[in-house]
Amino acid sequence: MAIHNFNPGPAVLPRVVLERVQAELLDYHGRGMSILEMSHRSKEYEAINASAEVRFKALMGLDDDYRVLFMQGGASTQFAMVALNFLTPGAVADYVVSGSWGEKALEEARRIGRTAVAASSAESNYRRVPGEIRLSEQPAYVHITTNETIQGVQWPTIPPVGDVPLVADMSSDVLSRPLDASRFALFYAGAQKNIGPAGVTTVGIRQSFMQQARADLPAIFSYKTYAKNNSLYNTPPVFAVYMLDLVLEWIAGLGGLAAIAERNARKAALVYAAIDRSGGFYRGHAEPDSRSQMNVTFRLPEEALEKQFVSEAQAEGLVGLAGHRSVGGIRASLYNALEEQSCVVLAQFMDAFAAKHG
Ligand SMILES: *Cc1c(COP(=O)(O)O)cnc(C)c1O
Repeated sequence: MAIHNFNPGPAVLPRVVLERVQAELLDYHGRGMSILEMSHRSKEYEAINASAEVRFKALMGLDDDYRVLFMQGGASTQFAMVALNFLTPGAVADYVVSGSWGEKALEEARRIGRTAVAASSAESNYRRVPGEIRLSEQPAYVHITTNETIQGVQWPTIPPVGDVPLVADMSSDVLSRPLDASRFALFYAGAQKNIGPAGVTTVGIRQSFMQQARADLPAIFSYKTYAKNNSLYNTPPVFAVYMLDLVLEWIAGLGGLAAIAERNARKAALVYAAIDRSGGFYRGHAEPDSRSQMNVTFRLPEEALEKQFVSEAQAEGLVGLAGHRSVGGIRASLYNALEEQSCVVLAQFMDAFAAKHG
C-alpha cells in the first residue's frame, strides 16, 4: 500500500534523496566506508559542510553579510541561545506570539532577561497572526515565529518592524517559499520538518548582528564560536548535515523557492478546498488569511469522529494526521517533500468521510 506521510516532524523526505543515501551508505564516493564512519575533519565531510552552507545561502538569496551555521539541540536550544547572546543585561527583547512555539520562545527568554510581548493573538486562541505590533523603545531584537506548526497559523508576509533586528523561528516553513532574507538579523530552523532529518539546526545570521552578541558566554553557546569554526568547533551531526545538503540540492533541482512555493500552494489549496466544501463538517482552525501552507489544522463535529478519522485514514495509508496532543483535532503537515498526489488522496478521503458521517 502506498503511504502518504503527513507527519508533523520528523517528516517526509524526498524519495530520491533516501535512495541516494541508501546507495551511498556503505561506500561513500569510493572510500570503502560510510560517511557515518568518517572524521568530521576529513576532506569528504568538509566538502559536504561547505556545500550545505553555499546551497542554503543560494536558495535563500543570502549575500556575504550572512553566515549559515549548522548546530545541534533543535529550535528549542535556539530559544535559549538567541536570548543568551543578544538579550544583554539592561536590554529588553520583544516577542510576537502567534502560537505555542512563540510562547515557548518567550518563556525561555524570560529566564534570561527582560522581555515584552509586542503582539499576541492568544485571545483569538491563535486562529490568526497578531494585528498591530507595538515595539518597546530600542529592543535588542524582536522575535517572530513565521509558521506556528501546532495551530497551523502562518504569516502570509513578514510584518514590518522598522530598524529593530528581526529574529525568526522558521522551523516549519524554512525554504518553503521565497522570502526577503535581508529582513532578518537571525533566523533558525530545525531541519526535521522541511529540509532534512532530525539532528541538525540551521541558523542564518547577519555578521554585523553577530558582532553585538555578548562575549562572556561559554564557547559552545556563542554563535561566534560556530561562525569562526565553520560549524566545526566540535563534532557536528555529520549524517544529518549530509542529508540536509542532498535535500537542498533536490530543492534547487525543482527550481528553487519560487517553484517549491507554487507546489506547496497547490498542495495546501487541495486540502483547504476539502474543508471549505464540507458544509461545516470540517472546521478549519486558522482564519483564512492566516492559514498555513504547511500545517492544515481542523476539527470535526465530535472528538470520537476525529479518532475515527485518524484510524480510518491510517488504514488507507494516510499517516500522521492526529493533531498535536496539546490542541487535539486533525493536522495535515504538507512539508516540501510531500508529493501533490498525497494531497489529492487526502482530499478524496475527506470528501468520502464527510459524506459518510456528515
Ligand atoms: C518543531 C518546532 C520547534 C521545536 O523544534 P525542536 O527541534 O524539537 O527543538 C520549534 N519551533 C517550531 C516553529 C517548530 O515547528
